[in-house]
Amino acid sequence: MENDQKIIQLKDISKIYRLGEEKVIALQNINLTINKGDICCFLGTSGSGKSTMLNLMAGLEKPTKGEIIIKGIHVEKLNEKYLVRFRQRYLGFVFQSYNLMPALTALENVSLPLAFRGVPKHMRNKRSIEFLKAVGLGKYIKHKPTQMSGGQQQRVGIARAFIGNPQIVFADEPTGNLDSKTTKEVMNIITSMVRKNNQTLVLVTHDLNIAQYADKIVYILDGGIQKIEQVNRSKSRGNIGEE
Ligand code: ADP
Ligand code: MG
Repeated sequence: MENDQKIIQLKDISKIYRLGEEKVIALQNINLTINKGDICCFLGTSGSGKSTMLNLMAGLEKPTKGEIIIKGIHVEKLNEKYLVRFRQRYLGFVFQSYNLMPALTALENVSLPLAFRGVPKHMRNKRSIEFLKAVGLGKYIKHKPTQMSGGQQQRVGIARAFIGNPQIVFADEPTGNLDSKTTKEVMNIITSMVRKNNQTLVLVTHDLNIAQYADKIVYILDGGIQKIEQVNRSKSRGNIGEE
């Protein structure tokens, strides 16, 4: 079905910020379709509008103009109450700075989205332990963020993003604070999880190496789409950077 295939559609999106007298055109005339199961990467320099794009899709900001349709839902029309439900039901997030709760253990951080959904504690702990094992942190369940390396913290962040089995995962510079070896590990975990569950990944980066993980690379320049590159799917399957 057509609408099933097109999981995300942006139609003539513009976003203009007003700072006093000044107008900042963050995005202009964006038209884009992302298909279900795609790994789509927004690639562009700092300030080109990548994060704004993700924020609009997640309903964290409203577009100045245009439509954002995700799973047939007009995100730009949702009020805060429905946006919260929409995010809980469909979206997972991985952040550059991990955004873990410092007072909570790895297990508690990963369980959080399930707690918000009212999943009973023994069930969410069981599932969270499974996910922590899946990201290679079976021995770090009781560790707090400050007791873990950046790469480990991001793996907690990944487990938390995927715990609710979201159909779409947004990752804004997920390896921006990591060294190149850890970057490969983290990217391989994220992309293999997405592939396994046939989820859709929307990835934001300024790093061409990261873009190589994508099926579709959307080059962003000064708030516009410069070009879209469709990568051969068979090539991007499997883990890049592993012997
Ligand atoms: P990127 O993620 O590609 O680095 P952003 O989407 O964060 O770029 O920003 C795009 C442009 O919009 C930049 O010029 C930035 O300064 C501006 N911008 C982003 N957020 C705001 C805001 N809340 N208020 C004013 N300008 C903003
Ligand atoms: Mg950004």
